[in-house]
Amino acid sequence: MPEKDSDASLTLGVDLGGTKIETSLVDTSGRIITSQRSPTRTEKGPDGVIMDIVACINDCLGEAGKSARALGVGMAGQIEKDSGTVRFSPNLGWHNVPLQAKLEAELALPVMVTNDVRAATYGEWLYGAGQGVADLVCLFIGTGVGGGIVSGGKLLEGCNNTAGELGHTTIIADGRQCHCCNHGCLEAYAGGWAIAERAQDAVRSDPKAGRPLIDLAGSIEQITAATVTKAYVNGDSLAQRIVAETARFMAAGLVGIVNAFNPCLLILGGGVIQGLPEYISLAEHALRLNGLQAAVENLRIVIAALGNKAGVVGAAALAYNKLQKADREQGGRSE
Ligand SMILES: [Zn+2]
Repeated sequence: MPEKDSDASLTLGVDLGGTKIETSLVDTSGRIITSQRSPTRTEKGPDGVIMDIVACINDCLGEAGKSARALGVGMAGQIEKDSGTVRFSPNLGWHNVPLQAKLEAELALPVMVTNDVRAATYGEWLYGAGQGVADLVCLFIGTGVGGGIVSGGKLLEGCNNTAGELGHTTIIADGRQCHCCNHGCLEAYAGGWAIAERAQDAVRSDPKAGRPLIDLAGSIEQITAATVTKAYVNGDSLAQRIVAETARFMAAGLVGIVNAFNPCLLILGGGVIQGLPEYISLAEHALRLNGLQAAVENLRIVIAALGNKAGVVGAAALAYNKLQKADREQGGRSE
């Protein structure tokens, strides 16, 4: 392994979201040397956003006065495995964008594009709450719900590189419409957008009980998952009911996930969980009651450790590992 902190071991990580581009220069122990952030101007189209990413990277390297050996990009969407082409990203409205090839041409660096939640799982596994564990599942519950699975010491990719879409497992047949093509997904009940929709529905059907939520948000339409959390903490009874129901939906999803993958460790993160960590203990009770005994008896459940840094750190580490693998193969051929 190269010497720590030498330029030779530094890698860039980019977390490309619907609202911001977060860029960090990361060393091999997962430490962030420096970071830059810029808004994602989706209206400029893929080529415009790619030039913004390049500018953000150059600012980051300029500030640190260092160079990097590779770049890892994590973004929400389905990414083709080796080419790093973005097949579809709903947040950015992109279809079939050859992001990896375009960034490689602009930066003259090896680039690896991957799913953002997969990158965050890798970050938590390597440097966060999952260090040293060979069988774990990460579930990130934010606006959307996504996950990643490490099984037998391997990060699962699946046949078409979409393994880990745990938010789109059906928990209720013919249930609420999801943002994917399905109905009744875990995300359609426990994702931030779905908690907001369910809370707004509950307030519409009982405006008197919903008064505290309306007062906090300003109007029914402005009620979000964060409003529900705030009202819950204030002791509001409708918010308490919504939180209890949400925890039951989370547990329903987790029972399937834990029974399917039998992890030793379940890491829960994302904005909804970080906003109200109590969701973990509320869901854990039902999970332990309803999961197969052999699947839950040695299971530990913890909160994610890296917060919103898991994505950049994990993307950088994935790119670094890909580089090392290529170096080894190159070495093998020249021997
Ligand atoms: Zn779905």
